[in-house]
Amino acid sequence: MTQYDYDLVVLGAGSGGVRAARIAAGHGAKVAVAEEFRIGGTCVIRGCVPKKLYVMASRFHDDFADAAGFGWTVGEARFDWGELVAAKEAEITRLSGLYAQNLEKSGVEIVRRRGVVAGPNAVAFADGRRVSTRCILVATGGAPTQHPQIPGIDYAISSNEIFDLAEFPQRLLVVGGGYIGVEFASVFVRLGAKTHLSLRAELPLRGFDEDLRRLLRDGLVAAGVDIHAGALPTRIEKTASGLAVTLQDESRLEVDAVLVATGRAPLTRGLGLEAAGVALKENGAIVVDAYSRSSVPSIFAVGDVTDRLNLTPVAIREGHAFADTVFGGLDVAVDHALVPTAVFTTPEIGTVGLTEAEASAKAKRLLVFETSFRPMRATLSKRAEKVFMKILVDGDSDQVLGVHILGPEAGEMAQLLAISLRLRARKADFDQTMALHPSLAEELVTMRSPSRIVERA
Ligand code: NDP
Repeated sequence: MTQYDYDLVVLGAGSGGVRAARIAAGHGAKVAVAEEFRIGGTCVIRGCVPKKLYVMASRFHDDFADAAGFGWTVGEARFDWGELVAAKEAEITRLSGLYAQNLEKSGVEIVRRRGVVAGPNAVAFADGRRVSTRCILVATGGAPTQHPQIPGIDYAISSNEIFDLAEFPQRLLVVGGGYIGVEFASVFVRLGAKTHLSLRAELPLRGFDEDLRRLLRDGLVAAGVDIHAGALPTRIEKTASGLAVTLQDESRLEVDAVLVATGRAPLTRGLGLEAAGVALKENGAIVVDAYSRSSVPSIFAVGDVTDRLNLTPVAIREGHAFADTVFGGLDVAVDHALVPTAVFTTPEIGTVGLTEAEASAKAKRLLVFETSFRPMRATLSKRAEKVFMKILVDGDSDQVLGVHILGPEAGEMAQLLAISLRLRARKADFDQTMALHPSLAEELVTMRSPSRIVERA
């Protein structure tokens, strides 16, 4: 049998790569992981984790308002951007250190430099070292896509830079209505920035249930976000006091920063994949089978670099399944169905299963249960906040096809609802479940009459 230097070399120490490396090492494999940036990847360093910390920071804005309604006198509230950035930095440094420690404890060698594929069984590191390996796992993730090519676009920043801006942007334009665009618009408006959101569509979050899209738009507007639907920037100019942005509708905005969040693309360029014979999609994503194996049998890929479902827990599950299958003697393919997702705007979105548009195309008779109410927490402060919940039920089988929530803790609810939907819960199961009172989630088991019945034509 051929002797290799390693059983596995992983390219990229993000969520998927780290999990795969640790599990493979636990199965007895000799593993190295190459990382040119900080250990932890997008999620830990400049994605989910710092984003959620900033979301938490922004929500104190509403908490102070609620507190007054409960009899508290809150002194003048002031926000210090520098303190938040520093506290965030300390936390992600701690987490990155833990990731590195856990890799080392598992016996994984960390190579702190870029690695590229030098053949089906070879990896070259940036210091010139070349090693042989039985398998390669590409887990290099994704990066913000090229910004729209308009004059002055170089003045714009991406989500990579927004976390660490030296100065708090008092006036911010966010371009793009996906997860990243709406989350940052929601954060910065609450931290005190005059915030604009420019969308090419009428509503944000394409692909989400239409009611959630509409209600989120309304929630952002209510928080003070100035939404410019169908009006993208055409030019950005530097001025004495910041940036002047011209939009397609000829309006002109004066801002301190422009954040472009128009999508992310797989990071495969310059990795030597084409030369090794690895098939890529048009956007650079690595084509893989259900076991994350590429067109070259010794080369695998997990996470955003495969552009399947670009979410951290999915990358982790794919990395784990790969390691169990290739090094643990198991046969694990990842099931990408019924993945819950949250958008950490305020109001928050939590969703699992089919949207109403998808469900009505699938079910002959779709029962739509809906409720909308003011959360108890906002009643005393009289803050205008609404919770919205929608349950989509197949009228013939009674199976719950999708649940969509907008409001506090919607993400937490979606996580638990995903278990029910995976167990193929019927609406009758929801109805028979005792309510927990008083809670927001009890509404999910107390909706009795459909607000609409959609018959397939
Ligand atoms: P998304 O793909 O979610 O959204 C991209 C947005 O940019 C859409 O609104 C799209 O508009 C718009 N857009 C695309 N191209 C252009 C263009 N040329 N000009 C103007 N607008 C354009 O990307 P994000 O960058 O927001 O997020 C990337 C990924 O990161 C997400 O898919 C998600 O998987 C992950 N993520 C997940 C989070 C979470 O789970 N909470 C949080 C953050 C990121 P249109 O709708 O018209 O196509």
